Amino acid sequence: MVGKEASVPELFSGPEIRSKSLSGAGKVALTFDDGPDPIYTPRILEILRSYKVQATFFVLSTKAKRYPEIIEAILRDGHHLASHGLRHQPQLTLTREGTFWEMRKAVEILKETTGQAPRYYRPPWGLVNRWTVEAARQLQMEVVRWSCDSRDWVLGIRPQYIIRRVLTCRYLEGGIVLCHDGSFVPHRPRALLTALPVIISELRHRGWRLVGLPMLFFPEPYASLSSSE
Ligand SMILES: [Zn+2]
Repeated sequence: MVGKEASVPELFSGPEIRSKSLSGAGKVALTFDDGPDPIYTPRILEILRSYKVQATFFVLSTKAKRYPEIIEAILRDGHHLASHGLRHQPQLTLTREGTFWEMRKAVEILKETTGQAPRYYRPPWGLVNRWTVEAARQLQMEVVRWSCDSRDWVLGIRPQYIIRRVLTCRYLEGGIVLCHDGSFVPHRPRALLTALPVIISELRHRGWRLVGLPMLFFPEPYASLSSSE
């Protein structure tokens, strides 16, 4: 959502999409995509709990339906729940109807599971189509990408690389870090388990606060990717 690293590919950046400047000095939002995962989400929750850190989980609603007890654990620990869609279908392959249907269905499942509607939506791979923003607005969600990609999704990545990548990211302060608690490849989030405590400790050492997305955007709740109108 912010800066060169996270800019929307030119092909998909129309007048609907704009960037937000980094304003949350001393704050960082950790975000976790592609869960809930029965192995890795509980372990990540454990790490976050031990550091008393708040984060945001962009969950897939098909998985949320399968693992409602993990969704419950995320909320019980005080984290923020957001939507990553229904089943990780690339938006670029969807029609207008398909886009609206997928996003609405994902929200409905989360509402059924938690009693709450998600406020933020991150499209799979961060790629939007021309209807994403419109559908999100209709569902009262904001489209959010990230400013630092931890690259924890790269197969065989080493924890040291993830640590260096995040801690030296140009858009870290006031930004949004992309991590994954779930995967479609077995055990892909494993390196993050080693990297995460080091990253959190260093950010704490800098005196920064790790916050959920609403805390990062407050007091401008509609400042992420949104209409330019
Ligand atoms: Zn994803």
